[in-house]
Amino acid sequence: MSGMPIYEYICPSCNAGFELRRSFGEAGEAVSCPKCQASARKLFSSFTAFSKGASGESSSIMGDTCGTCPATSCATCETGS
Ligand SMILES: [Zn+2]
Repeated sequence: MSGMPIYEYICPSCNAGFELRRSFGEAGEAVSCPKCQASARKLFSSFTAFSKGASGESSSIMGDTCGTCPATSCATCETGS
């Protein structure tokens, strides 16, 4: 096994989306928002993006970062509405 899955999290307090690479054993543990330190909520993993990230850079996987949040997937924010 060369890598761990990346999990997406959303902060219910400041609405920031972010990603963390964690082992399956750690996936259920509490995560703090990097911005406000509130407890973040885990979203679905983005395995499609992860498959390209062999170098392990979770912050530059796709390059189409949403303008609203730091996540690479707009599933974590609501720019469309
Ligand atoms: Zn936050």
